[in-house]
Amino acid sequence: MTGRVAVLKTYGGDFELREYPVPDPEPGAVLVRLTRAGVCGSDLHIWRGEMKGLYGDEPRDLTFGHEMCGRVARLGAGVSVDSAGRPLAEGDRVTFLYFFPCGRCPVCLRDEMGSCPRKVRPNRVAGTPPYFNNAYGDYYYLRPGGHVFRIPDEVGDDVATPANCALAQVIYGLARAGLRPGDTVVIQGAGGLGLNAVAVARDAGAERVIVVDRVASRLQLARDFGADHALSLGELPTPERRVQAVMDLTDGFGADIVADFVGYPEVVPEGLRMLRGGGSYLEIGSIAPGNVFSYDATALVRGNARLVAASNYSPWALGRALAFLRKNAGRFPFERLVSHVFPLARITEAFREADWKGRGGDGLRLSRAALSMADWGVVPSSPFCCRSARVSRAQVRLRSSRTWKRSRPSPSVSSSTRSPSWKALRPRWFVPVARRSPGSRVWIEVTHSTQRGIRWVMSLVLKVCFSSSLTQSRTWSVCGSAISSAVTRQGPSGAKVSRDFIW
Ligand SMILES: [Zn+2]
Ligand SMILES: [Zn+2]
Repeated sequence: MTGRVAVLKTYGGDFELREYPVPDPEPGAVLVRLTRAGVCGSDLHIWRGEMKGLYGDEPRDLTFGHEMCGRVARLGAGVSVDSAGRPLAEGDRVTFLYFFPCGRCPVCLRDEMGSCPRKVRPNRVAGTPPYFNNAYGDYYYLRPGGHVFRIPDEVGDDVATPANCALAQVIYGLARAGLRPGDTVVIQGAGGLGLNAVAVARDAGAERVIVVDRVASRLQLARDFGADHALSLGELPTPERRVQAVMDLTDGFGADIVADFVGYPEVVPEGLRMLRGGGSYLEIGSIAPGNVFSYDATALVRGNARLVAASNYSPWALGRALAFLRKNAGRFPFERLVSHVFPLARITEAFREADWKGRGGDGLRLSRAALSMADWGVVPSSPFCCRSARVSRAQVRLRSSRTWKRSRPSPSVSSSTRSPSWKALRPRWFVPVARRSPGSRVWIEVTHSTQRGIRWVMSLVLKVCFSSSLTQSRTWSVCGSAISSAVTRQGPSGAKVSRDFIW
């Protein structure tokens, strides 16, 4: 048996998919069949060639990716529980640390596993056994001693994918910075990390959350995640004015915590000036080398400032991230963090899209791409393909988010059509629904015939919240990707088969 690994030969160029033999896990190891991988900001840095200091002037059969989740394919001998002590079996959905602290050095013993000097990072040269060392492939080989956690049933793959990077990082960083209930927190940068930080701060009881960003749509998303104040660089073009705005919002005292999730060094002095006396500055954003800033050390002393930086995290942070997601499912719009889900075979497109979209967003969701390793081939009986199916009848039904779980869908838009392909469905049926009820969820039920004449009923639940702005732009791929993990097929036997869905 073999599996695919995406390999980069030129910075900013195309990926190539190579097949490698799938290894048997050694004792203590876990072989994971990946279902999702995220394209994180740091992956874009690598792809663009901004981390040459670490990866060389030319990528040498480079394979990478670190945000991911999947199902246990094989357990090595001796593995029967996850890192939280819960039973672990083949088929369980899992997420895991993508780095490997030694667990037995003085640093690890101080609960600073993210800083472990003996920390092992995955090999990034394709073809190095056990071959599946990174996220952009069909499998992941979790070496013995890796920290692995079962994903709660309530947490879908799309939401779980960035948990082992963005969310765990933010939970760990804010804990290090000493976040307490009643705090005022300033978040610089409303990207994936920043938005997670808004949710974490809100959940931890922060009294006031202030977000600073340049892009209006990201600021709106920050508000939707619970930010009290969204400061726009457009409206407050100078650092002085932004610092003053934070002072005005805090009665002249400054914020308890200011956190950088931007990654450009010029935001650091500005953020330091937003701190109250004795406050904490949390630095997470700077990951590419060369981010130098200058600041008056005396001002730090006089301000009793605490400087805290965080790269990687201790394993407890990932366990807590999953508990956080389970507890807050439905409270924060996590599903809006990922805008596009591509099949692994289209990874180059995913990077191009994430790179291009990263400059602004589509106004509704954060522009972040993810990859799906879903394998339609394993579905028995007649093959179903979203692109080739003949749709004989389609219904679009709408029901409100609030009654989502309790009621049967009540038809509000319903009709039949004969259309040659899925594509014809999209504009015809989604747009009127979205226009009519911005912010609603949409239920689509499609009956179609396969080549063998068997009638299948497929129900798609769009977990995306539509807004009227969505219907006006080139966004059908956005909607389609949102379907990703929400397909239920009903076979002739009546058995329901849940599948990943690739648009
Ligand atoms: Zn990441
Ligand atoms: Zn260690």
